[in-house]
Amino acid sequence: MSPELLSRIWQRLDSEPPLFFADEVGRHFGDGLAGLIELGLLSETAPSSCVPCWDCGRGFVSRVEFLLHRRTGTRRPYINCPECGVKEVSPDRLKRWMVDAAGCLAAISEAAGIRGPASEVVAGCLWRVGRAVWGQRLREVYFARYVHEGNRTGVVEGLATHPKAILLVTTNESAARWDSTTPNLVLALEGIVGIADGRPTFDTSFIESRLAELDVPTARRPTRRRADRAAKIEALVAALVDHLRATRDHAFATRDQTGSPELLPRPSQQDLARLAGMSKSDVSRCLADESARELRLYWDIALDLNQIMDWRGRPRTKKR
Ligand SMILES: [Zn+2]
Repeated sequence: MSPELLSRIWQRLDSEPPLFFADEVGRHFGDGLAGLIELGLLSETAPSSCVPCWDCGRGFVSRVEFLLHRRTGTRRPYINCPECGVKEVSPDRLKRWMVDAAGCLAAISEAAGIRGPASEVVAGCLWRVGRAVWGQRLREVYFARYVHEGNRTGVVEGLATHPKAILLVTTNESAARWDSTTPNLVLALEGIVGIADGRPTFDTSFIESRLAELDVPTARRPTRRRADRAAKIEALVAALVDHLRATRDHAFATRDQTGSPELLPRPSQQDLARLAGMSKSDVSRCLADESARELRLYWDIALDLNQIMDWRGRPRTKKR
């Protein structure tokens, strides 16, 4: 099914009542109508009481009158076109279909993995659809349709307690109108929802990419912390390398002078903190850091006279 067919549904869902008349349904959906009904997106509703004349091409819309048919004794629908006169109307021409908002939300939830049930927050305009895990987090999902000047305040108030919820709206145009009315991430169903093999599909990857863009400022912080930690580890490695070098020199010097090498005491964490210009808790956090293998190696060597005397200095290519 082509995306245009679904776009027509979303466009109509943004009007009230979201109705399609018989002539439109044939023109827009053709053979696709039964599939849309089966998916729960459209449902047949009460027949129309007006119909445009289909013969003269002038588009006169006439009220349907039910007149007693003399021969059969039944009441049948007629219109009176100013151009063509009185004509009987086939009941098929009066059929109407409504876009079923609840049915649409159920189909979308199934395709998108949104756990409901959906509940109406503002009658006919705003729903809490449910929750979905997108971008590795549980998100509240809302849906708004037919938002206009008269009900906008109510819809905005209905969303106020959930500024981080994702707000689904009908069309791209509607999303653009919504703009920055609320802090919510606003996404149009148009372009996200499709139909493949008779089932609704939902482009979760698009939502996740939009969420990733939004999450960049918060994602950057741990990266900065990471860089900060790496710089501290490097400073401590440098301080320990200085210490090991001095200890090695001292060991050889004392061995030459006295015959027995002497070990310089390993600096305490407090000493290292002072040498490297950071706090003692920084030092313990760095020593515990998974990536600080080189630092822990030197920290251990500093206690072992034999290893210190065998130590050939810091390798040129540092392994991180
Ligand atoms: Zn006519």
